[in-house]
Amino acid sequence: MRDILAPEAARWRRFVDVFASVVEPAGYGFILPPLLEDYGVFRRIGDATDIVSKEMYRFTDLGGRDVALRPELTAGVCRAFVQHRPPTPWKVWCAGTNFRYEKPQRGRYRQFEQVDIEVLGVEDPTLDVEVIALGWHFFAALGLRQVELRLNSLGEPADRARYVDALRAHFDAGRETLSEESVQTLDRNPLRVLDSKRAPDQPLIASAPHMQEFLGAGAADHFAAVRAGLDALGIPYTIDARLVRGLDYYLRTTFEYAGATLQSAQNALGGGGRYDGLVEALGGPATGGIGLAIGVDRTLLACNDEGVFPPLDLSVDVFVVDTTGGGEALAITDEVRRAGRSADRAWDGRSMRAQMKAADRSRAAVAVIVGDDERAAGTAVVRPLRTSDAEQVVVPRDELLDHLEKVLT
Ligand code: AMP
Repeated sequence: MRDILAPEAARWRRFVDVFASVVEPAGYGFILPPLLEDYGVFRRIGDATDIVSKEMYRFTDLGGRDVALRPELTAGVCRAFVQHRPPTPWKVWCAGTNFRYEKPQRGRYRQFEQVDIEVLGVEDPTLDVEVIALGWHFFAALGLRQVELRLNSLGEPADRARYVDALRAHFDAGRETLSEESVQTLDRNPLRVLDSKRAPDQPLIASAPHMQEFLGAGAADHFAAVRAGLDALGIPYTIDARLVRGLDYYLRTTFEYAGATLQSAQNALGGGGRYDGLVEALGGPATGGIGLAIGVDRTLLACNDEGVFPPLDLSVDVFVVDTTGGGEALAITDEVRRAGRSADRAWDGRSMRAQMKAADRSRAAVAVIVGDDERAAGTAVVRPLRTSDAEQVVVPRDELLDHLEKVLT
């Protein structure tokens, strides 16, 4: 877990603002589900997955409840849907912190942020297109160019079950060549073996049957409609038959956005898919569902690589240097801020030299300087800091705000 400090951290907030500016005009409402849920909520998203079986921050609270910090947002949103039964379609977005006890490395942390949309109560394949397109447009809004969209269908539950059987037979036949981890995974869930990045597993993964061959008519039609919708919107994608994603609840459409500048093991910026059975698994009525989650931390790494979406310039407009004891600095920063400009000041009655150094370090546009002479005369000195040719001027104290506004514009 990392500290993210200023000015870098301001990007996390702006990231969420940009996401809101893309999804709110599309009818998605902001919600705030809790960070902590009953462990049972997460168990439903797949106890054969690493996320649930190995990476949960799970503990017993002081009331004896078996709870866990959320590893992702979808399960909590579906739990909220079951609990509150809002009218459908329920289109929501959220942003927040998730926890996974993973091996930390570049782009993979134990605490990370996601932005997310979820829609419950719609089966229409053109909704899948809307969700995928919103993610696509969001990356463009950040300024990212090198993003690739990968698409797959995991079929209906029956298709998926037939596929899982075929995969099990395939991997079983070459069991002795698989890594030890994959042999264990195979017994629990053969789909997960496709996710393995371990070298010994790659030949068998490459020769494994493709999900596409197992799609029944319903899932095949749905998938064709999603592809046609993306084509109609001019959004490029590749079909990736190996795209199974890290959670068990997905069926039919699954998708992922990969950052072309990132290393392949950690290049997924975000992704999602349909999870039509999840609300039922959580005790609700049969309800169609689809979601998309984008990782903030990792996507910002891709932004760095492409030189887009830089940290905000947090420097202020005005820095006040006051050698009369600090009362002038207090008053002037207050006036300037209330007039809608940003202002900072030096503290602790430092010398003129030390305060001017602080003003330079602050990278403010102008310094306002008040010493005993200025205070006695009812004036202030205004000194531009960013332009070397501009002269400092003495202005009457009661014209200071007007003068600053002129200089700053
Ligand atoms: P997932 O919920 O696993 O589908 O992840 C969706 C997105 O969240 C990924 O594409 C990453 O951008 C991000 N993400 C997932 N796990 C982590 C992690 N441990 N650290 C940083 N980002 C993550």
